[in-house]
Amino acid sequence: MLSSVKEYAARVNYKYFSSTEYDKWKAKKGHSSTIIARFGCWKKVLLLLGIEGGRERRYTPEQLVENLETVWRQLGFPPGKRQIGKYGLKISESPYKQIWGSVRSACQAVARQKEGKISREALLEGSLSNNVRRPIPLKVRWEILKRDNYRCVRCGRNPSSDHKVQLEVDHVKPVAKGGQNDIDNLHTLCWECNHGKMDSL
Ligand SMILES: [Zn+2]
Repeated sequence: MLSSVKEYAARVNYKYFSSTEYDKWKAKKGHSSTIIARFGCWKKVLLLLGIEGGRERRYTPEQLVENLETVWRQLGFPPGKRQIGKYGLKISESPYKQIWGSVRSACQAVARQKEGKISREALLEGSLSNNVRRPIPLKVRWEILKRDNYRCVRCGRNPSSDHKVQLEVDHVKPVAKGGQNDIDNLHTLCWECNHGKMDSL
């Protein structure tokens, strides 16, 4: 069932697609509603495949950095949450939050890159060091979920018995500490177990 969604995702180059678009695909196995019933909602199904949806992803990291620099120059000091929403492209903090954690730390990352302390690649990945977080390939993500039986390895919950559960593929040894995308370094966690943990930074 999910492998069919995965196949469709590959066809559309892993861009976000709605359940309606998916249902129009003749070769699909199972209607989207069956899949949604198992995983809670469509957004979650796509998140499992590493596809983030919708409106929040309108800006590329390059555009966000460019906008930040423009506002910074205009103000003469590093912008915060309030200024970024008021000047330049008037972007909210949320896309910055997704990549850098906050507008403030985005400024910090930009400064570090200007000082030559981190690469541009690291900056655009939202990293303050050169340990770049490379996206976990879909194929690997898939293997991990399957290996872990679509359950959180910490608390054992799974989305088919509890629709509130959102599974994520997580690094056992954090990327910031040099963890890689090896199968041995990846496991399935629910959102709560993943974000409640203290060693993620
Ligand atoms: Zn859990």
